[in-house]
Amino acid sequence: MSPRLSPASFPRPKILFNCLTYGVAAGISFFTVSAAHTIPPLARDVNELRAQLPSGKLALVPTMGALHEGHLSLVRRARAIAEAVAVSVYVNPLQFAPHEDFAEYPRDLEGDRKKLAGIADVVFAPPDGLMYPQKQTATIALPPLAGEMCGASRPGFFEGVVTVVCKLFNLVHPDVAVFGKKDWQQAHLVGLAARQLNFPVAMEVCNIAREPDGLALSSRNKYLTPAERNRAPLLHALLQTAAAEIQNGKPPEDIRDNAINQLREAGFAPDYWELRDAETLTPAPPPGVPAVLLAAATLGKTRLLDNAELRMPPQ
Ligand code: AMP
Repeated sequence: MSPRLSPASFPRPKILFNCLTYGVAAGISFFTVSAAHTIPPLARDVNELRAQLPSGKLALVPTMGALHEGHLSLVRRARAIAEAVAVSVYVNPLQFAPHEDFAEYPRDLEGDRKKLAGIADVVFAPPDGLMYPQKQTATIALPPLAGEMCGASRPGFFEGVVTVVCKLFNLVHPDVAVFGKKDWQQAHLVGLAARQLNFPVAMEVCNIAREPDGLALSSRNKYLTPAERNRAPLLHALLQTAAAEIQNGKPPEDIRDNAINQLREAGFAPDYWELRDAETLTPAPPPGVPAVLLAAATLGKTRLLDNAELRMPPQ
């Protein structure tokens, strides 16, 4: 096994012309064109990636592309906490089951690059040959939590996600990786694997970006018909109300039954509705601790995922 370089030992050449200053011929007015306001270059391999990155603390934002404001909020956070920002765009085949939407998953690399103008230094879009040079037989064993909630209806999903994120960490060597609370269970399992496998990568987990009516932004919202789009914010509304009621001492089981019924009546197929300890994701959070209500439900052919944070009432 070849020794793994630490992020600090990585050569990351300085971009000399980070800021180009042009003077108007008469020398009366000047304006500055920063490389940060240009569309970020595309890197297909690690050498191209390194060549485009400024030196300093490196933040990686792993995505599957079809970027929306939720992804961009993560990239802005990355920009605020690091000197160099790489956004990876890779639709990871390993995390899709054969019947899932891998083929239809929205892809728009050029559109994504435009959206990242001014906030990312480089877009890393590795080809399948780099990510999976061979059939992936080396896997990372995850705790039983990976078979619960999203993992119960999507067996192997979290193994696929954690594997690809670990591969990205090994290729990119970020100092910090930025994830969204939208996929709370995913961020938890990635953080757990990164810690236990001693990746020298700090985790930054950001708030959920929403539409004005509360629907959590998602690349899959594109699948919603107009009628479904009108009903979709119900999931967030129920989670919000339930979180407030649990915090005020109402029994979580009653709230759950009521929420599941309301979702069914509105045409959703509920997948799960779970109250968990926010720190450990174990069920039955004790009094007074931070908790999270997590839910997934399918509307038409779109699987919606959301959550709401709360504090358990004191005993
Ligand atoms: P994806 O492209 O769906 O794999 O998501 C890439 C990253 O963006 C993950 O860390 C997600 O949790 C995060 N993300 C997706 N949607 C949102 C959102 N609405 N708000 C904040 N982060 C999000």
